[in-house]
Amino acid sequence: MNDFIPPAKPIIGDEERAAVDRVMRSGMLAQGPEVKAFEEEFAEHFGLGRACVAVNSGTSGLHLGLLAAGVKPGDEVIVPSFTFAATANSVALTGATPVFADISADDFCLDPGAVEAAITDKTVAIMPVHLYGHPAKMEELLQVARKHDLKVFEDAAQAHGASLNGTPVGAFGQFAMFSLYPTKNMTSGEGGMVSAADPETERLLRLYRNQGMQQQYHNEVVGLNNRMTDIHAAIGRVQLTKVDGWTKQRQENAAHLSTRLEGVTPPPVANGAVHVYHQYTIRVPHDRDGFAKALREEHNIGSGMFYPVPNHQLKPFQVDVDLPETAKAAAECLSLPVHPSLSEADLDRIVSAVNSLAKAGA
Ligand SMILES: *Cc1c(COP(=O)(O)O)cnc(C)c1O
Repeated sequence: MNDFIPPAKPIIGDEERAAVDRVMRSGMLAQGPEVKAFEEEFAEHFGLGRACVAVNSGTSGLHLGLLAAGVKPGDEVIVPSFTFAATANSVALTGATPVFADISADDFCLDPGAVEAAITDKTVAIMPVHLYGHPAKMEELLQVARKHDLKVFEDAAQAHGASLNGTPVGAFGQFAMFSLYPTKNMTSGEGGMVSAADPETERLLRLYRNQGMQQQYHNEVVGLNNRMTDIHAAIGRVQLTKVDGWTKQRQENAAHLSTRLEGVTPPPVANGAVHVYHQYTIRVPHDRDGFAKALREEHNIGSGMFYPVPNHQLKPFQVDVDLPETAKAAAECLSLPVHPSLSEADLDRIVSAVNSLAKAGA
């Protein structure tokens, strides 16, 4: 049988290894000059036009962002249910309540109409997710937020370099979080980067990251230790020099698939949107699980389901709410390999396997 095609594959090169070695030799491992440089380079690289704060995970980044924005017990934050649990978890960890709104069928991201319908007098913010690397409908969401005097935060964990009508994701919300977990479009090992729209949000992010201290032993608020190490930052800095090439390769791989797949719906791209294809997600309306199993067992091709269980049905949340597009996406979504390590032969194998399975199932 042909070699296994994995659904994702982190790329770590000699430059990353050398960067780690450089930090190890310096003997200074904790948050220091590498983190500071990484923060500045990240903001510059993605054209965010605002300061960035590095943390030890994307989830920490969301949590600190929410704390910095003043989200507190009793508040409600509107989030999609069709996302990774970190989105809702971070809201719940502040003591606030995640309120789940439905997604749009065309981009798997929050539906502005559904968001507006979910607003109550406790709602303080909307936190869209740029799922799979496609920007959420930010212009409409910002409009809803302005109308109801709400804040907007971004979960950009999967969307490094994505943009909407020329504005990069991460430049819309009061804060935005990018994950640097190994399977994301770039990595620092573990890590997260948070952009801040204003100096006060940035200051609070830095305080909460470090026990509430700006000045050593003069703690201003109750904080955490969510600092990034210089080892991780050094890896991230190298990856930053490579991520544009990888994104271009992801987009070329996606185009290769989209022009050749038959009998399945390729991922749509909105007008004015730049999609960075963290995932390439098709819909398989009939027996998605059987389809994935056949891909794996008959064709040796891995795939992913992001996400088969909507957050509102997870044990910690268990909310009785009807989200028809979320339910449909959870049952149909199937992410095919699109990562930059795929060869043209791999892509052709994926196309012929998917097309033959789609034909057999039709
Ligand atoms: C990965 C991810 C996170 C969490 O990031 P970590 O770095 O793994 O903590 C949050 N939200 C979404 C949508 C993600 O994909």
